[in-house]
Amino acid sequence: LGTSRTFWELVERRAALTPDRPVLLQEDRTLTFEELRSGAERAAAGLHGLGVRPGGVVAWQLPTRIETVLLAMALARLGAVQSPVIPFYRDREVSFALRESGAAHFAVPGVWRGFDHTAMARDIGAPGVFEAYDTLPAGDPSVLPPPPANGTDVRWIHWTSGTTSDPKGVLHTDRSLIAGGSCLAHALHLSADDIGSIAFPFAHIGGPDYLVMLLLYGFPAVLLEKFALPESLEDYRKHGVTVAGGSTAFYSMFLAEQRKRPQSRLIPSLRLLAGGGAPKPPEVHHAVVAEMGVRLTHGYGMTEVPMITMGSPDDTEENLATTEGRPPEGMEIRIVDGEVRLRGEAVCRGYLDAEQSARAFDEDGFLITGDLGHLTGSGHLVLTGRLKDVIIRKGENISAKEVEDLLHGHPDVGDVAVIGLPDAERGERVCAVVEQPEGAGELSLSAVTSYLRAEGLSVHKLPEQLEVVDALPRGETLRKVLKYKLRERYSGTVK
Ligand code: ATP
Ligand code: MG
Repeated sequence: LGTSRTFWELVERRAALTPDRPVLLQEDRTLTFEELRSGAERAAAGLHGLGVRPGGVVAWQLPTRIETVLLAMALARLGAVQSPVIPFYRDREVSFALRESGAAHFAVPGVWRGFDHTAMARDIGAPGVFEAYDTLPAGDPSVLPPPPANGTDVRWIHWTSGTTSDPKGVLHTDRSLIAGGSCLAHALHLSADDIGSIAFPFAHIGGPDYLVMLLLYGFPAVLLEKFALPESLEDYRKHGVTVAGGSTAFYSMFLAEQRKRPQSRLIPSLRLLAGGGAPKPPEVHHAVVAEMGVRLTHGYGMTEVPMITMGSPDDTEENLATTEGRPPEGMEIRIVDGEVRLRGEAVCRGYLDAEQSARAFDEDGFLITGDLGHLTGSGHLVLTGRLKDVIIRKGENISAKEVEDLLHGHPDVGDVAVIGLPDAERGERVCAVVEQPEGAGELSLSAVTSYLRAEGLSVHKLPEQLEVVDALPRGETLRKVLKYKLRERYSGTVK
């Protein structure tokens, strides 16, 4: 199946191989591979009836649900261009996404989690609005034009998380997403016996990438429309999930649950936690492995390249804890002045914005990531931070990540973001913004600096300002900390 050129080809070939095996499990519902094929085809005919044609742009803002996957595959069947938008986005971000992508249709969930998406769509003047929550548009597949013949046209516009600035529209093809998904499945040694889970927004690039794995290997995933612990654990246990994903924020939530009942395994069927997309302090890694009794592999990916490197479950604990794993075959990594550059089939075509696109690639066609890192002798990638996250104090470069990793070891620190703030005297000064765990003691700047000194951090990297907050501002996709918001909030404040 790995030779499939388009999503639709994958769907058809998998449905022919194992029609009656489940692909999606949600609450008490099951969808088989053949039901995915036939349901998507009926929905494609319904969309055709609404005027959607091959190459037409359809935006959708839908949660992680069986219907959402059907809609995405219906669009793949039609050969339309789809632009998934994270369900938590509101007027400003949604208007931006619709305008930039030039969408002619917009699928919404109606009222979802107390918010009326249909009303919002009307208020912002969205074109071609239709609801696609409980039911999808349906029609007779005999009206459909033939499925798309090639996997190299742009058919996906995904949005970056907007961590460093406004989200960017990233252009993907079926082929780049299939390349990413097949590498991921391979790195994780998944098989037809696995039961996966999708607990993050399917609108994230990881959604279709995960679907590629299910189609290639023929195993099912549990879909969680709402991820919350401890409630979601019931779903994991009921379906016997073997592989769960997430990022550091998810691992920490699992860990907190596990600590409430250290005697028994939280999810007995679980063998692997595989996630990525955000920094993972080694501290958290070791705690998860020791206390939950599972393997933890973590990888590096971005909306532009869903799978760059991934830890492999048979690697050493040391490599898994301290690196992002190795690149799959076909992914070329080049480090230039400490910055990671990438070339390979899973790399996006560019951005919607032509100017951004022009700046995105170097003269050899490598994508310039803005991430800092190096490769070890064994070919493992170590990420050391983001270019925009380097603090330059009195002309010395300080990696925010280095200071953060050390602070994670402090018992009164739950999560922390280290940022640089403009400073007339030093250029920038180092500020640590801390979220404390439940029941933690009071924290002072001098306690923090003496701890960091004892951990061996050099004096010029020590925070000169400490802010304790109830909750760090986070993006909705991977719960990543939005540092630009912190910089805005604390610029001009001196402690
Ligand atoms: P924007 O590009 O809009 O500022 P963003 O880069 O955060 O947002 P994403 O595409 O969701 O949007 O995230 C990709 C980035 O996440 C990577 O470029 C990298 O900085 C970070 N990242 C991904 N995986 C890891 C990881 N394993 N460890 C540390 N950082 C990671
Ligand atoms: Mg980015």
